[in-house]
Amino acid sequence: MEHKKRCKNCCVLKDGFEFIRKDKIWGSCNRCSETYKKKYQENRDVMKAKCNERNNSLTDEQKIKKQEYQQLYYEDRKKEIAEKNKEKNGMPYECECGCVITFNNKNRHMKTEKHKSLMKFIDAMEEQLKKVEYLNLDEVD
Ligand SMILES: [Zn+2]
Ligand SMILES: [Zn+2]
Repeated sequence: MEHKKRCKNCCVLKDGFEFIRKDKIWGSCNRCSETYKKKYQENRDVMKAKCNERNNSLTDEQKIKKQEYQQLYYEDRKKEIAEKNKEKNGMPYECECGCVITFNNKNRHMKTEKHKSLMKFIDAMEEQLKKVEYLNLDEVD
């Protein structure tokens, strides 16, 4: 492909094939897509780790607010998650928050601050990353 194209993200003029992923032509180049994917994965790990630190440094007022928020959030997801997994008691279970537990312990685990904080954090971050993706990239594989 001779045609050159300017990347929407890094604004560099590149050969057309630099924009082909999965047989489609995207507005952003392959390099930007790779960079984004890496960043996304790194961020996710870092955020999980930071979540615990943050928890310890909150004021009482912040903690209460956070709990209220998490309670609302948790109620929304509780039924959905319970439905999905209720038949699997005793099996190893990798929680959405990244913790590995058994299904027997799932309900208890779901009520822990650790789980709730991790989930809230992961979701908030994914929301942010979605916005970034929407602004900068057409799509990431
Ligand atoms: Zn680019
Ligand atoms: Zn969890």
